[in-house]
Amino acid sequence: MQASFKTTCCYCGVGCGIVVHKDRQGKLHVEGDKTHPVNKGMLCSKGMNLHYTVMDTSDRLLYPEMRYHRNLSRKRVTWDQALERTAAVFTAIIKKYGPDAVAFYASGQCLTEEYYVVNKLIKGFIGSNNIDTNSRLCMSSAVAAYKLALGEDAVPGTYDDIELADCIFVAGANPAWCHPILWRRVEAAKAANPALKIIVSDPRATQSCAIADVHLQVNPGTDIVLHHAIGRILITAGHIDSSFITAHTSGFEAYKTSVMQRSIGEAAAICGITAADIYTAAEYIGNAKGFMTMWTMGLNQSVVGVNKNLSLINLHLITGHIGKPGSGPFSLTGQPNAMGGREVGGLSNLLPAHRVLNNPEHRKEVAAFWGGTTLSDKAGLTATEMFTALHEGKLKAIWIMCTNPLVSLPDARLAEAALQKAKFVVVQEISSKPETLQYADVVLPGAAWAEKQGTMTNAERRISYLTKITDAPGEALPDAEIIYRFAQKMGYHGFDYTNMADIYAEHCRLTAGTRIDISTLNYETLKEKRSVQWPYQSGNGTPRLFTDHQFYTDNAKAVIHSFDDENKSEPTTRERPLILTTGRIRDQWHTMSKTGKVSKLKQHISSAFLEIHPEDARQRNIQAGDIVEISNSRGTVRVKAQLSSTIKQGVVFLPMHWGKILNNDLHRANNLTNNLLDPISKQPDFKYSAVQVQRYQKP
Ligand code: SF4
Repeated sequence: MQASFKTTCCYCGVGCGIVVHKDRQGKLHVEGDKTHPVNKGMLCSKGMNLHYTVMDTSDRLLYPEMRYHRNLSRKRVTWDQALERTAAVFTAIIKKYGPDAVAFYASGQCLTEEYYVVNKLIKGFIGSNNIDTNSRLCMSSAVAAYKLALGEDAVPGTYDDIELADCIFVAGANPAWCHPILWRRVEAAKAANPALKIIVSDPRATQSCAIADVHLQVNPGTDIVLHHAIGRILITAGHIDSSFITAHTSGFEAYKTSVMQRSIGEAAAICGITAADIYTAAEYIGNAKGFMTMWTMGLNQSVVGVNKNLSLINLHLITGHIGKPGSGPFSLTGQPNAMGGREVGGLSNLLPAHRVLNNPEHRKEVAAFWGGTTLSDKAGLTATEMFTALHEGKLKAIWIMCTNPLVSLPDARLAEAALQKAKFVVVQEISSKPETLQYADVVLPGAAWAEKQGTMTNAERRISYLTKITDAPGEALPDAEIIYRFAQKMGYHGFDYTNMADIYAEHCRLTAGTRIDISTLNYETLKEKRSVQWPYQSGNGTPRLFTDHQFYTDNAKAVIHSFDDENKSEPTTRERPLILTTGRIRDQWHTMSKTGKVSKLKQHISSAFLEIHPEDARQRNIQAGDIVEISNSRGTVRVKAQLSSTIKQGVVFLPMHWGKILNNDLHRANNLTNNLLDPISKQPDFKYSAVQVQRYQKP
């Protein structure tokens, strides 16, 4: 007898619907859900192989483990022993050093319920705002830009705008590999409507360029110059919506003055592209009736990430392409539930339902709802700041949930040194493989995808329900349950949940009256409707925001921001003349703790490599397949060279997935990345580090 379950893919922020078939032996098989509005039956290579990651339990953590001293190895313990000791250590540290001496570092892969409970625990009861997630590394620049420009962290559009657009500008993203199903919709829209113009800006000619009408192969860090130049052409050619600008925006005159300061020729020279290509892109945008932009890490992961985002959003505000069918700025979320995490306030500067920490009324509302102590108004540590604070001894204990910072954080060797210095490290994980486990004093086994229920929100504000399909192996528990059991051991009230539906209901109630109001939503409705887009009111979701052009700022006008176009990344030098950029490959996900288990997914690319332009290679006497050493003051990486004229000369690329292989960390791209942050979003500058490359010769 076979049973079938409808659920949602747990990898990227596209949020595809999946049908899981389970046979009598418990074997799982997945296929795309033909009825799901996101993917309409399609799945990419990662989604198609999801069942293997659940059925192969050979690497799974089965029992809690603990050690009393760093020199000892961890031993299996009961859940009570693990959580009681953790509660005792946290209590002692908080008593001695204060609540800000502990922190939780979570993941955009956590379900909304998990985010909600851990956020409530630390902000409402421990009394610190030291909770951040790896979404900080992914989306925080887009979040800050939406708030600055539109008054709220709110993606205006919906995926259905793809088929309605006649110009799509993809900036600093390779959705063909990183958001494949969304890209298939773009490809299909282009095939159905050859008049649809695709613009791609990227220092690499990626797979996404295959259908581009123009590829703007910009120098890294020059996106603002490009966007300003396009803005200048649109203004000069009269391709702007003056009545929209007057009625619904502020800041246009200052913007106009700032973009007029550089000639198009000058901008083209800085960007390393032709002026003609900038004019072509501007013409496509200027003639469009529906204009969408899509972007990810090329803009977000930058020391000027917020300004890069704002400069792109400005193109929508001067042309009026927002809140209309086929139009809008659309940040593509990397992780499956980065948006759900923000809904419950799962970042160090947020409170639930998009409330903010620095608003006393918001703090009061949330404290009253939770019935805990007064909420602290002190901003918590962000992702990289936590590890710096650990290194400096200011932070004593860290609890790491569902993420592998020793591979994913910038300047990974500093992160490793930080964990070595920490007094107490708790790691909540599904797999025994992640590098971070070696520093854990307590290991707590979590249930994986298909082994627990909950909700996630994708990049278009679509909330989906994930059903439990199979039991977790050993004693692994759902992550939310681990946290609420711990809260109970700490003696806090308000954590006596018995199921996930109660947690979700509490979260929904807390959104009442806010801009993301889902207070009438519950599991039953989600099971029936499969998914809805927030806000959800009167039985309906909201596919498109700002259709009335009333923005969430004080005067309801969107803000066109002005700023200079300077990049503030670390400069290249004679010793380190190349710019390193890092990113994903098609078939792997993050630090490979799931996709690395599936042999089929290694057929595409099986090992780390350096992509380098043939001319840069020739100058260094490097041949294809040579082992090369990439180095700077922070560290070294040693991998095979892959020569490719699709990358801009002067730029090299390393995939971000590989970490330590045995005790060798020479494949870890983040040995080389730097700790510079955008001053507003605190997102790291992963896309720009100065390095040297040379052929490696064995000593
Ligand atoms: Fe999963 Fe993303 Fe692939 Fe869809 S596109 S199947 S959500 S990894």
